[in-house]
Amino acid sequence: MKLSQTYSVIGLASLSWACLLPEERGLPARRNVNPRANTGLGVGTGDRFNGGAKFPRGVGTQAAGTDLGLILNVQEIQSGILGLAQEYDIDTFTTPYTTYEKRSIYGGKAGGQGNSSDAINVYINAGIHARERGGPDNLLYFISDLLYANKNKLGLTYGSKKYTAQDVTKALATGIVFVPLSNPDGVAYDQSSNSCWRKNRNPASATSGQPATIGVDLNRNFDFLWDFPNKFASSVASGTASQSPRAEDYHGKSAFSEPETKSIKWILDSHKNVGWFLDLHSNAGVVLYSWGSDDNQSKTPGMSFLNSTYDKVRGVSPDRSGFVYSEYTPADDWSINLKTATSIQTAMSAAAGRSYGVEQASELYPTSGASDDYSYSRHFADSSLGLVHAFTVEFGFANNQASCSFYPTAQTYRQNLQETGAGFMELLLAAAQNI
Ligand SMILES: [Zn+2]
Repeated sequence: MKLSQTYSVIGLASLSWACLLPEERGLPARRNVNPRANTGLGVGTGDRFNGGAKFPRGVGTQAAGTDLGLILNVQEIQSGILGLAQEYDIDTFTTPYTTYEKRSIYGGKAGGQGNSSDAINVYINAGIHARERGGPDNLLYFISDLLYANKNKLGLTYGSKKYTAQDVTKALATGIVFVPLSNPDGVAYDQSSNSCWRKNRNPASATSGQPATIGVDLNRNFDFLWDFPNKFASSVASGTASQSPRAEDYHGKSAFSEPETKSIKWILDSHKNVGWFLDLHSNAGVVLYSWGSDDNQSKTPGMSFLNSTYDKVRGVSPDRSGFVYSEYTPADDWSINLKTATSIQTAMSAAAGRSYGVEQASELYPTSGASDDYSYSRHFADSSLGLVHAFTVEFGFANNQASCSFYPTAQTYRQNLQETGAGFMELLLAAAQNI
């Protein structure tokens, strides 16, 4: 593979900031047209799944134009999982860690051969960043579609993207563990306050009277180059995470200090055969593949996140003249990751006619302590663990009419459901080909 083929720079980096607003990255703020007046599609009240007595159905198995209503609230996401368990007899679980506000983190398992944890090959996660509305809905409704289609021997239709009943069987056979809402405290707070809240609600580092100092950015809290001031070059370190509790990308007191990130690690630890991981975010309209720390390279295995020789030089990207540092990824991994990310991107773009990008994660901006890098890094750090191909999908695009650009409209909520449904299917079909 020639390097020139694999550097996939498509110019999106200058336009999109993934999960951070421009002003949160020290860039000029994009003024809202009508600040504070418009919060996009509303959040449901009550419990449309009645504690699990009713089960969710997604857009992929219903007539075109079917309206799924308002955004799911925290209770409904839990009830929806229980509803799937009732209807399809799937296993559900809570992780051993409860959040600061004493909530459990719920998940389920669908498909696979037999009921053992060993039958699970794919882990899909959502809801880490509270304000990225519709993320949990996208995942819960997709699993709902898959199970309904399988039971009724149907295919799936996501806008212009169609999958056969055979595709459904193949996708489900991979065995999926899914967690639609990995930050329930943050989402409950965001939904009740419309405050564009991103972090969890842990006040361990907070200053009294300063509400913005509450919470940790969970997607900077994983054990991958977490100690960013010492791991990255000083010129970029402040962009990879923050040590300031008031920052939106505050990384916490230590790696895995938070029950939410511990829960994700526990799920990976508990399902040894997971080889594919997808973490769902919004709203940069891009599919990201490993690594997120620096440019990839496949020639020097010793030039990696594990090697302290390269502390304080990482993250300067691109640094191709001289290659001060680039993160090692075997050529086969790189090829599979790029191919899979491109399949996801192509399908998401086809579903509703909106154009998605594909990039190596570091092209967006280098990050410390992110879930995708941690998942992919595990087997490099511990050879007893298996390879996990990891992706971050940034669904949707900014709603600049709303007080928080992560809040979708009714129309974009629906487009997001179609696009992510197609993207998830591509991930599962890629996994099916490689297991
Ligand atoms: Zn995010």
